Amino acid sequence: MNPNEASWREQAWSRGTAEEYDLVVVGGGITGAGIFRDAAARGLRVALVEQGDFASGTSSKSSKLVHGGLRYLENFEFGLVHESTTERTRLERLAAHLVRPLPFLMPVWKASKHPLWFLDMGLFVYDALRWFRGDPIHRRLPRGELTRQVPGIRTDGLTGGLRYYDAVTDDTRLTLENVLDGVALGGVALSRVRAVGSRFQEDRVAALEVEDLLQPGRKGLLRTRAVIVAAGPWTEATDDALGVQDGPRLRPTKGVHLVFPRSRLPLDQAVVATTPQDGRVFFVIPWHDATIVGTTDTDDPEDPDRVVATAADVEYLMTALRHHFPELPLETGDILGTWAGLRPLLREEGVSASKVSREHSIHVDRRGIVTIAGGKLTTYRLMARECLESARRFLPSPLPPWGVADRPLFYRGTITDDQARQDEILRLQRLHRLDTAVARHLVHTYGASAEEVLALASEDPSLANPLAPPWPVLEAEVVWAVRREMALTLEDVLTRRNLLFYLVGPSLEAPARRAAARMALELSWDPDRIEREVTDLLDLQARHLAGVRGTASPA
Ligand code: FAD
Repeated sequence: MNPNEASWREQAWSRGTAEEYDLVVVGGGITGAGIFRDAAARGLRVALVEQGDFASGTSSKSSKLVHGGLRYLENFEFGLVHESTTERTRLERLAAHLVRPLPFLMPVWKASKHPLWFLDMGLFVYDALRWFRGDPIHRRLPRGELTRQVPGIRTDGLTGGLRYYDAVTDDTRLTLENVLDGVALGGVALSRVRAVGSRFQEDRVAALEVEDLLQPGRKGLLRTRAVIVAAGPWTEATDDALGVQDGPRLRPTKGVHLVFPRSRLPLDQAVVATTPQDGRVFFVIPWHDATIVGTTDTDDPEDPDRVVATAADVEYLMTALRHHFPELPLETGDILGTWAGLRPLLREEGVSASKVSREHSIHVDRRGIVTIAGGKLTTYRLMARECLESARRFLPSPLPPWGVADRPLFYRGTITDDQARQDEILRLQRLHRLDTAVARHLVHTYGASAEEVLALASEDPSLANPLAPPWPVLEAEVVWAVRREMALTLEDVLTRRNLLFYLVGPSLEAPARRAAARMALELSWDPDRIEREVTDLLDLQARHLAGVRGTASPA
């Protein structure tokens, strides 16, 4: 890809508006990105438009778990659990650098909703539904072992616990790599382009009307036989703009996460417990040398563009945390970052927010516009397949078979499992004399392409400097993000190509300035633009932390 913003984006815009497509996908979250990649792998002529940055919606705000949905067992949804656990095992192979097994500890107290034996039985079923394949099977832990493994856990009434396995990922990068792979397979992807309308010919969709959000007033037409709307919380608004009637109606619920320094919440395994306030499941998850806590689940009519953690959200999670970890002196002042997202759930009345189904639905408008809503990150490939099959009658016939069934994700290369990943970390560490944390971070982020990122630093040794020491992110990654990963702004780089925005807390300004200076060289930014990018990012952080600092969220 050409290193110049204007150049690659201009090329994509010109190509996008000149060609004729089999399919245009609206929405570059995990759902749209999965459909885009699947369509490209089947050889369809496909384009993707995203109004923000890729993954800037809900798909960068999840709990980052690729999971079988243990709690669905409570409702006897065995089929759903089987499907999700099987897919999790597949993703641990096809995207092994990004989807990594993680042990979960489930402490059980006398006052817990379910006794130990009952949960033990549930986890037996959970293991059985993946035919005991893949990760190790669960096991019981005596009280003493649990207290050793979970420092600070409430011991009062603790009877023991269980350890089972699910997987952790980076939702943002999982989404991004689907987009990049779709592009590598011949698709066209454009960020900051909004779908604003559709044109019909003889009662069939003929083109999608789009607006370039980086060049006010610039509009274009993408000629296509079919459109798939995968617009997450923006589904209803997008369907309205495109003239779709009777599409899915949503009940978006808000979920918030808090980020703590690992030193304040020292865990190397995740902990799952229920909140004392309303008995909802919440997680404490080790994540990038930090620990995240989440999530809330509340009905939220807020504008999806402006959703942030409020003081009430922070208080809810802090109360749950302090209840279960009474020995740890945790303060809101420890919080490094937050994120808040809206689950694009299907409308369901008469149940609490946390009981709304996580299933997805596909609506087919006979004129060639298909809308998908609901679902979850874990099953995005299966949702994409089903969605393309639902759109089959508008696509070239016969529809080629599932193109990504066994296709590894973009940066995975030769990394196929835990062992290969560890071997690659060791190899890079020795070959390039890297710190373990740097080698691990690079492999977990770029898989077998980590070496290509390092190659930038051999051309310019200053790129080997960490951007925000002691975090292992290198300056080379800023350049890589611009040249190879379609990053256009400082926010794209520090919130979604790497995650420093969420990890460095009050020390954000210095790395932001360093990264902006690097981007300026790549993208010919003048000093005013650099200043604007830095200010915008610091304002965004102030909004994210307003609920923590007790300041009103700036409008
Ligand atoms: P989004 O990611 O929101 O993508 C939709 C995109 O469409 C947006 O980027 C938006 O900008 C774009 N768009 C909208 N309108 C237009 C338009 N007109 N033109 C162009 N672009 C447009 N799932 C799991 O499997 N595991 C988890 O651990 C998990 N945890 C979660 C925790 C929380 C707090 C939340 C909120 C969700 C969680 N989920 C989890 C669910 C999962 O994150 C979502 O189901 C998934 O990310 C939704 O992806 P999406 O692509 O449908 O929506």
